[in-house]
Amino acid sequence: MSKRNKLEKWQKVFVNRSLNMGNIRAIGFDMDHTLAMYNREAFEALAFRATLQKFIDAGYPAELEGLQFKPEFLIRGLLVDMDRGNILKVDGHKYVKTAFHGHTRLDKETRHKLYNSESFKAYEFLSMDSFFALSEVQLFAEIVDYMKSNPGKIQKSFREVYADLRKFIDKSHADGSIKDEVLRNPEKFFIRDRHLATMLIRTMDAGKHLFLLTNSNWPYTNAVMTFLLGDASSDFPDWRQYFRYVIVGSGKPGFFTGSQPFYEVVTQSNLLTAAAGSLEQGKIYQGGNAQLLQNLTGFRGDEILYVGDHIYGDIIRSKGSVNWRTLLVVEELEKELLKLEELRPALQSIYTRIGEREVCDEELQILRSKIASNARQAKIATDRGDARKGQHLLAENEKLLEKAHEKQALLVGIDEEIKQAIAEREANVHPVWGSLMKVGLERSRFANQVESYACIYTARVSNLRFYSPFKRFTSYHDILPHEV
Ligand SMILES: [Mg+2]
Repeated sequence: MSKRNKLEKWQKVFVNRSLNMGNIRAIGFDMDHTLAMYNREAFEALAFRATLQKFIDAGYPAELEGLQFKPEFLIRGLLVDMDRGNILKVDGHKYVKTAFHGHTRLDKETRHKLYNSESFKAYEFLSMDSFFALSEVQLFAEIVDYMKSNPGKIQKSFREVYADLRKFIDKSHADGSIKDEVLRNPEKFFIRDRHLATMLIRTMDAGKHLFLLTNSNWPYTNAVMTFLLGDASSDFPDWRQYFRYVIVGSGKPGFFTGSQPFYEVVTQSNLLTAAAGSLEQGKIYQGGNAQLLQNLTGFRGDEILYVGDHIYGDIIRSKGSVNWRTLLVVEELEKELLKLEELRPALQSIYTRIGEREVCDEELQILRSKIASNARQAKIATDRGDARKGQHLLAENEKLLEKAHEKQALLVGIDEEIKQAIAEREANVHPVWGSLMKVGLERSRFANQVESYACIYTARVSNLRFYSPFKRFTSYHDILPHEV
């Protein structure tokens, strides 16, 4: 048995599109939620409170202060209808399966009328791709509820409130209300992964060039990376020694499509100067763009693997615009895969019941055909004067009808059981929204995006250490329904 087969599921790298690591010469890493794992509850609570304070400072009712941060309410991959104050979970066929107005679940009829009765345009809604969106949208849901129960106290539309929310969050980041607090107590806000350095060193030893490409600014990046890697290995006392290139304030996703030049960060003073025609190890760069990075380093797009957690900002753009290969870190998988493993028997029994339903349904169809055929023949017999045959057939139909009713009732019962079992299984993964990747037994919209844009994906970046840096990741994924 190979070492990989012994891995737990949450330690594995999953393959959507075959990727030969032997062809990869450079690996770029995002920082937040990729190299740096956050203690999300602590961080989101901080962001929630800091942003809420900005609402009150800006003249919103002071009683908003009583709003509570609820870390478990939301998951990533949801959509926000900013006009109506609703939050939606959508399956891969753009069918809205769950919808909430604030914290109130919309009934099936309302949900259907609003979202499923005509073609659903996902781009009209805000996609909750990043972890930072969780506390943001939760605060939005709290204010939506407040506006409902206190009509007239906030004289704005939901969309205007959302625009304020965005503004206040940016302000909280810019004025240090969030970051200063994080950097004061990094051990409270970050989870150190002791395998991170091991993974990076193994990859470097294999001759790959590593680079850091983050939207965070230099002081924050330096503080976080020092906390994560500063004393992780005596061979690399400075975290910058792990990375051939360090690019901060990159402005992704614009980085992948734009033409901004690189600036050198003069680290002592944090000032910028225009960078000369090359990128050097040990220096810090800001801005830039992907095409220029390729030109200056000599790496082709498909020789670069980019590792990030943000499906749009890190993955969709890097793959779509410059053809970089992509590894998506989906942190939630760690917990979810454990849970889903636990729930495997439940899923199997759901599929068994679905099989039984199909058999039952077929039997019912056969009965119905027989009843229809008997009725037709009875009429013909009676019309031809053979009353006895007609009556005989109708009498047989009485019995068949009874059987059909029993089957019908059985079918309804099985259907209800299946529905119940699916709902229970979902609620076991997350009480409100179910699994990140699934909607019932269907794929979620998020799962569809992961499949389309991430060449490979895994729960945490250090899982790469379980695989050779020259590993050929092979997809067995291109099988169509007619090939099974
Ligand atoms: Mg990130």
